[in-house]
Amino acid sequence: MEVTLLGTGDTTGTPTIGCDCDTCERARDPDDPLRERMAERGVDAQGGVERSRFSVYLENDATGETLLVDVSPDFRHQFLRDGVPLPDAAIVTHVHFDHLDGLGNAYRLFDDLPVYAADETDPVTGESVAEGIRSRYDYLDTVSVHPRTPYEPFEVAGFEVRLVPVEHPPMLCYGLRIEEPETGAVLAITGDTCYEVPDRSRDLLSGADLALVEGLVHAEACEFHPKGGAHHDADGVPRTFGTKHMTLSGARDFAADIDPDDYRIVHTAHYVPAERAFADDIAVDGERFSL
Ligand SMILES: [Zn+2]
Ligand SMILES: [Zn+2]
Ligand SMILES: [Zn+2]
Repeated sequence: MEVTLLGTGDTTGTPTIGCDCDTCERARDPDDPLRERMAERGVDAQGGVERSRFSVYLENDATGETLLVDVSPDFRHQFLRDGVPLPDAAIVTHVHFDHLDGLGNAYRLFDDLPVYAADETDPVTGESVAEGIRSRYDYLDTVSVHPRTPYEPFEVAGFEVRLVPVEHPPMLCYGLRIEEPETGAVLAITGDTCYEVPDRSRDLLSGADLALVEGLVHAEACEFHPKGGAHHDADGVPRTFGTKHMTLSGARDFAADIDPDDYRIVHTAHYVPAERAFADDIAVDGERFSL
């Protein structure tokens, strides 16, 4: 399995439009030594160090088929920048803007883009993720929606995939366990979630070759959230920011809990101070992995 991280940021991305914080300034600065550090990680960051809106691109080594996880509003930029072909299929984890609203790009680019998503009805919206996609993109004949039941394995692009429920209140959201049957390679993706993930989902996310774990901000940022932090560790450090997302501490603890061979923190916001924002375990766009 070949994995390309097309988009590793939160909903405003890094750099954020109009922001002059140190993290955004360093991400933009062509002379910043970050460029060399990123080259050592295999990332060509000459156009800037970026965390665009979330999306992951997978290629199946055995079949050559390709799969996109989440359809970023930065779809066009990501595909041109990283030079990957259009995917054979897509999966959408939830209906937030930053994971879904690139789907309009399917117009004229695809004859048919099959999109897989969960079939459980969300009590808040009265729709499943699959129905939410269908209703928003009903005008696009090139998008076909394929509802799937959480926890039940299904096949797409030659991968065996499971949607695993996580906690991103008030909205239903799913992580993913994606296995390449020929090699046994496993990618785990937490999706947008707080730290308190159901045990059954934790078990399915465990033991992967690579885990992509959501971590939005540093734990100290919880003092600026109206709901503060939650799911504190033994030292009182919050592992959840507000109710919806993990802190970086939470993401690192979660990665230790599910014990992958390697992990990256994804969906990280520009609010993280610059001296911590570019740590080696926090993903940047363009990183690639062979599992
Ligand atoms: Zn900023
Ligand atoms: Zn979300
Ligand atoms: Zn998101």
